[in-house]
Amino acid sequence: MNVNQHTPMASPYGQPQPGYGQPTYAPLDGGYPAPYAPYNGPASAYQPGASATRPPDLRTPHPVSAPQPYNQYSPVRWDMQNGPPPMTQAPPSVTAPAVSQPYNQGAMNLSGPHPYPQHYGPPPTMQQVTNQMTGMQIGSGPPTPAGPGYGKYVLSPPSQPPFSSAQMPPTSMAQANHLPPGPQAPQVLQPPRSPGPLQQPPPQPGMPAGYPHSAFGQVRGPQPGYAGPTPVNPTTGPQLDPDAIPSPIQVIEDDKAKCNEPFTTGVRGQAPPLVTTNFQVKDQGNASPRFIRCTAYNMPCTADMAKQSQVPLAAVIKPLATLPPDETPPYLVDHGETGPIRCNRCKAYMCPYMQFIEGGRRFQCGFCSCVTEVPPHYFQHLDHTGKRVDCYDRPELSLGSYEFLATVDYCKNNKLPQPPAFIFLIDVSYNAVKSGMVSIVCQELKTLLDYLPRENPDMDSVVRVGFVTYNKVLHFYNVKGSLAQPQMLVVSDVSDMFVPLLDGFLVNVNDSRLVIESLLDQIPEMFADTRETETVFGPVIQAGLEALKAADCAGKLFVFHTSLPIAEAPGKLKNREDKKLIGTDKEKSLFQPQASFYNSLAKDCVAQGCCVDLFLFPNQYVDVATLGVVPVSTGGSVYKYTYFQAQSDQERFLNDLRRDIQKPVGFDAVMRVRTSTGIRATDFFGSFFMSNTTDVELAGLDCDKAITVEFKHDDKLSEETGALMQCAVLYTSCSGQRRLRIHNMAVNCCSQLADLYRNCETDTIINFFSKYAFRGILNNPTKAVRDTLVNQCAQILACYRKNCASPSSAGQLILPECMKLLPVYLNCVLKSDVLLPGADVSLDDRAYLRQLISCMDVAETHVFFYPRLLPLTKLESGSLPVAVRDSEERLSKGGVYLLETGLHLFLWVGASAQQELLLNIFGTQSFSQIDPATTSLPVLENPFSQRLREIIESFRAQRSRYMKLMVVKQEDRAELIFRHFLVEDKSASGGASYVDFLCHMHKEIRQLLS
Ligand SMILES: [Zn+2]
Repeated sequence: MNVNQHTPMASPYGQPQPGYGQPTYAPLDGGYPAPYAPYNGPASAYQPGASATRPPDLRTPHPVSAPQPYNQYSPVRWDMQNGPPPMTQAPPSVTAPAVSQPYNQGAMNLSGPHPYPQHYGPPPTMQQVTNQMTGMQIGSGPPTPAGPGYGKYVLSPPSQPPFSSAQMPPTSMAQANHLPPGPQAPQVLQPPRSPGPLQQPPPQPGMPAGYPHSAFGQVRGPQPGYAGPTPVNPTTGPQLDPDAIPSPIQVIEDDKAKCNEPFTTGVRGQAPPLVTTNFQVKDQGNASPRFIRCTAYNMPCTADMAKQSQVPLAAVIKPLATLPPDETPPYLVDHGETGPIRCNRCKAYMCPYMQFIEGGRRFQCGFCSCVTEVPPHYFQHLDHTGKRVDCYDRPELSLGSYEFLATVDYCKNNKLPQPPAFIFLIDVSYNAVKSGMVSIVCQELKTLLDYLPRENPDMDSVVRVGFVTYNKVLHFYNVKGSLAQPQMLVVSDVSDMFVPLLDGFLVNVNDSRLVIESLLDQIPEMFADTRETETVFGPVIQAGLEALKAADCAGKLFVFHTSLPIAEAPGKLKNREDKKLIGTDKEKSLFQPQASFYNSLAKDCVAQGCCVDLFLFPNQYVDVATLGVVPVSTGGSVYKYTYFQAQSDQERFLNDLRRDIQKPVGFDAVMRVRTSTGIRATDFFGSFFMSNTTDVELAGLDCDKAITVEFKHDDKLSEETGALMQCAVLYTSCSGQRRLRIHNMAVNCCSQLADLYRNCETDTIINFFSKYAFRGILNNPTKAVRDTLVNQCAQILACYRKNCASPSSAGQLILPECMKLLPVYLNCVLKSDVLLPGADVSLDDRAYLRQLISCMDVAETHVFFYPRLLPLTKLESGSLPVAVRDSEERLSKGGVYLLETGLHLFLWVGASAQQELLLNIFGTQSFSQIDPATTSLPVLENPFSQRLREIIESFRAQRSRYMKLMVVKQEDRAELIFRHFLVEDKSASGGASYVDFLCHMHKEIRQLLS
């Protein structure tokens, strides 16, 4: 039998296939293209459709409340700008301690020669760690039993007495940096006597006395932000020099400097460059880090070891991630009418981990070891190394990621799927109309309908569309192409929702273009004078779901909604916002849905492949925790535009909407993660639904959604075979084709803890911890959740200290090189609005963030928890300025800074910013003339202005949500919002500063070790 006849590879392997190219909407590295010409068409007068029924009710208008100002923050202190710590490579250099520090005592640096643990790119250079301590002593740890390969941070707390130690001369520090192999006593000074638990800092201005939240695990009195006994007091005690503790910026820059070659995925257990580094990926048999990132690339062999280390074993998977233009998207493989070749026992799909034996007649599964016959049409001879001779001609034998064409066996009811449909459901109640939302949506849709997702940019989208408007009743529209005008059908009995028309509701845009345009012109006018303030919500989703059911297809609902649905209907809600519950054991109930109605509705939606995207425009509490249940369970998204004003928020909303409608998306998806014997996927985090313990069901799955998967041992793993995982996502493409996307990943396994600690990725661990914690608050008090996080991290670091670092004084804090940022990042999670809200953060905001973060990838959680802060003194084309640490102390009054969180974008202008800078950016020399209300920078003909606007656009293009620019002038009230993101500082809600938190962690670790 001719193999080729049965394995029709659509195109020669090695070239991208037509139809699987990059999506046309947003290059990763460029600005967001604006494909829409401004529309200025005339709005036609409303002509009632043939069966239009009754006019909207007249009701009292709903008052629109004013935005609440941000609450007070603690006082500001502006210091000199400190640049990032030196980012020198080998040979190790030494920085003298800052003599200006008030509590400067004996101090020295460590820059131990540690080979870089992640061997990508060129041969590793000497890892250099520069610690500069004041008020804390650094000892250079002697080489550890585990040998080279991991660096350490060695911190020891301030010595006793606090002010007496002599400063180490730089020369001796330099000697300490070149320790010969072999045991050597670290240079340590004695810690100072603890001030004791009774010593408390004065109450912080702007914060209620006795503030109940502690950023730390245990209640230790009313101090905001730091625990009692830790001998670091920001106002009275000796203080750690922030430059002396591990710097995120230095780690990020070091990683960038090391990465000057593409990352190839061929070697098992290689940790990729950090998410903050730009790099190209070459798939050589494992999935790209753009699809899968792991917390550990060297997993412990046994459950005992894993338990001992407490390092979470997890992978963050983004199955449909968009790749940059210079990387090949996954190939589509067709194994013919019998479908993809799989292991007979565990059903794993053909992949590079299958071992062909017996001359190629059978293959042994890498996951379960079962031997399966090779079907005759798939047979191929083996070469002398036992490899199939066609190995490199077949993506499924040589690549980490690819797709299979699924057969009818993989379809619901054994029937090939219909193309999906998009249904737009627009709230036309008083607030929706008044805010301008209704007319903006309708106006935009006229253009946007030409940009529905398609696989081939040269062909029309096959996605059908339908329209509904609603307040407390629903209006369906017949937009059949043969009609002269759209027809409206009103359903006022919302208790048992049905779709009053089948023919003419879901249509092809091209067939019905004129009728649709007419409808979209008429909707804003029809409801212009509405007085109806009440809305329903449950029946709206039910209507969309019923329409998809009737059309027998999957699809997406776009719901544009403004208010708490208080009208009598299924899923009716009441206002239950109760700030008194915050911080109590009952707080968790506020994150749970108030009605079980939405859980069962979500289940029905998932069964139909009905994904729901919700755009909220609230002026008050709308109960995001409940309204978000269906979107979150169906792989959808929630967008929130609080106090929406057409003028200032339109740009953000429209960019979000455009991206949301156009982005690559799959429907009716099921994801299964298979693993090799010894380990299995036990827990999942993200926007999906699960009706059993293994299948992640996603009514919709778009290119921005990530799923975090936790693994647990169920047996012993072997160092020889490593641990394998295969993520298979079965989905319907936007053209209606049923497919399987496969991502394979192999990591190493170790019997030495030191190997685990050498191959971890802190950014991914933080992604896991944040999702774990943000789900935890559904069932636990937030304080208990914070305690658990602190405790687990302390255990991770204590285990390292105990088992991997050589014996040294208990006064030293020793951090593994790969995890030296764990404390600073963990602190950012602990003091996030979700876990430690300020008084100004609404319950809806917290519920919204909680849901949003649950499906973020590692890059997004990284910048969300540790924002990017760029000084804008000098801008060069082709490169970005080196970021500075997120602290007030890094800001100079004379400077201008750009801060990005993935959701927010600030331009902070120092009060004495150089006139030239202001002229270049704003076209004015005067600080006072800068308008803080501006959301876009003037287009000025100078290279600085041009480059800055380029940078802003490139940041926006990298993120899945549009970031509105906010100009913040130093000492303006808006600065309080900005300072919230300076996450190394103490926060107004009681969150600890990085320095204080590090001391606290140190104490926790010492307690565990003693
Ligand atoms: Zn198997």
